[in-house]
Parts: sequence; C-alpha cells; structure tokens
Amino acid sequence: MMDLVIADVDQLRTTLPDRIEPDHYEDLAGRLMGSRRLREQPVVAAFIDDIRTFREGSRLTATKAHINSRRDNHIFSLFRASYFPTLSLDYLTYEPIAAARDLAGRYPSNTMAVNVAARSAGFADRAVVALFPENHVDGRQDPGDLIFYFIDRFVERHNRITRKMIDTVMTPASFPHIRDAPDSLIEQASSWWVHLHEYHHQHGDMPIPAFLGAKSAKSRAGLEELRVDTASMLACLNDGDLPGGQARAAFEYILAERLLRYAVEGIPRPTYDAVGSQVLFTYLLRHDGIALVDGLIHLRPQLPAVLAGLLREIEEIELRVHDEPLEKVQDRLTDLVHAYTLYDRATRRFLPSPYFADAGKRLGL
Ligand SMILES: [Zn+2]
Repeated sequence: MMDLVIADVDQLRTTLPDRIEPDHYEDLAGRLMGSRRLREQPVVAAFIDDIRTFREGSRLTATKAHINSRRDNHIFSLFRASYFPTLSLDYLTYEPIAAARDLAGRYPSNTMAVNVAARSAGFADRAVVALFPENHVDGRQDPGDLIFYFIDRFVERHNRITRKMIDTVMTPASFPHIRDAPDSLIEQASSWWVHLHEYHHQHGDMPIPAFLGAKSAKSRAGLEELRVDTASMLACLNDGDLPGGQARAAFEYILAERLLRYAVEGIPRPTYDAVGSQVLFTYLLRHDGIALVDGLIHLRPQLPAVLAGLLREIEEIELRVHDEPLEKVQDRLTDLVHAYTLYDRATRRFLPSPYFADAGKRLGL
C-alpha cells in the first residue's frame, strides 16, 4: 500500500516545475485530489487544505499539526531547503527509535530520532540526514514543531567515513567502545547524540532559535555546533544517572564524528561544521587533551578536563550577552574561532586542515 502511495508521489513529481510558486498551489491541490490513493492519506488531505488557503507568510498549519501529532508517522509536504536541494513534493514514513526514549525524558526537546521506512525520490539522497520545520515551503519553525533525524543515515555515514577515519588516524587503543561496535550500538549512540545536541542548542545564555541570526556567520555557527557537542560529550561523561556503557559509547561516537568526520568532509572548503571541528582539534592539541604520536591522534587522560575548559571559555563569552552589546559578544566568539583555526584574513576564508586533508587523501575520501 505504502509503495503505491510513494509511486504516485514520484509520478506526480516528474510532472512538476522545478520551483513551485504559490500561484501553482491550486493546480497542485487539484492534482493531489485526482489521486484517490493520495487524497485518502490524512497527511495529504491536511496539505491540500493548507495550500488551498495559503498566503505569503502563512504556516502549513494542518500539515504540521498532523506531523507533530505523530498519529501515523507519515510526513508529506512541499519542501524547499538550499542544503537539501533534492527535496520538493515529498512523502516519508518513519519508525521511531525506542533506544532514545529514556534519554529524551531527561534531556527534553522537540527531537525525533527515527529510521526511514518508505520515502519518495527527494528523500533518497543520503545527504538528507534530517528534516527541520523550516524546510517546509512556509519556511517557519514554531514552538513544538518536531525536528526529525534519520538515524539509519547516521549509521551508514559512520560506517562509510568515520570508521575508516578511526582506523587511519587514531592510535590503536582509542575509542574502544565503538571501534568494532555493531550497528545497533551505533544506532543508539546516534540517537543519543541528536537528542543531547538539540537539547543543548536550546539551553545556555545564547540559545537557538533566539540567537540563530546572531550565530549565522560560518565562524559562530561552527562554534555553536561545537558548544552543543562539547556539552553533550560532557553530559555523557558526567551524568551519573545515564547507563554507563551506553554513555561511554555515545561520548566516543560524538567525539569521533565531531573531531574526525566533519573535518575530512570539510576538505577542500571547510563547512561551518568543519570550522567547529578545526577549533576542537587545535584546542585539544594546544591544551594537551590529545597528542600526535607518530602522526596518529592519541586521546590523553586529561581530555575530559580540557573539554570542560573549552566549554567554559565559550560559556564565559556568551554570559556577557546580558550586559554587553550583542556585536561585542559576537566579535569575542569570532575571535575565539580565529584563534584556533586557519583563517585567511585577506580573503576572509577558512583554510582546510592540512592534517585532515592528508588523511582524506590517503583514504580516498
Ligand atoms: Zn546543530
């Protein structure tokens, strides 16, 4: 049954213009009504209602209410996101991951860790690892809107890239909990990561989305990603109420993804995630949290204390937002990033890390 619904969406996609503007919505609604299989899906019916009354600035109210209610684990909408260019009119069904339920109670957020069950063509691209409320064509994120992370794709990416990085650039005793872990443990660690990550975005003196604009520059966006991942790693290490083995695996997983994968993915042009990764690598090296031994990264015993020091430096700057002008605080955050990255002031560009450029070349990544 789902196969036929997806096939109808894929068929309809092939007949649509590249960019669907509001003056096409009436026509689109008519075409959706023309497929009995589609119009009988509650999420499609909700979407039809929304686009029939859509005006500039409105919210896809019924569609998002359906999705946020999780009544059937179906997602359908018209999407537009520059970083997920394959998304357009798309359908997806998912299965929630139970492993994260306890953690989600302790670190609440609007995060959903799920595995993809069925999907139309736009969701086939493995680069689509998440779906944010603002990716819908209304461009809005309202309180309570769910953020979806497609954990099966995190596991695939970890196996394809991060595992090879661990084998190539780390000393042999590093990451004992995840080095040869089965996919089930990596799935659990991934779902813990996304819950902790989103929880920490929404906490602190300059949380997201309130300070999204203030942190949109590549330097500060990268630092924000590093802030929340560092806080997440420290929660795994220090929160005694979390089950120890799983917490240790999640700590290693977050560190490996942040330190290694984003770094090598940011070659030749560092993304904001790669900027965060570069700050982490340089900070840990300069403060003896890691050491290079015969070209391999060795995690030193004082690593947790150095991570705590890094988080403290970021938090001490953000605390100033209560009594300094925002621009001044933004400059302090940017200065911290520039102090730990290769930044070319003449071209105002971040340069790739030579260490990870070399590792990436050896791995053919
Ligand atoms: Zn983030």
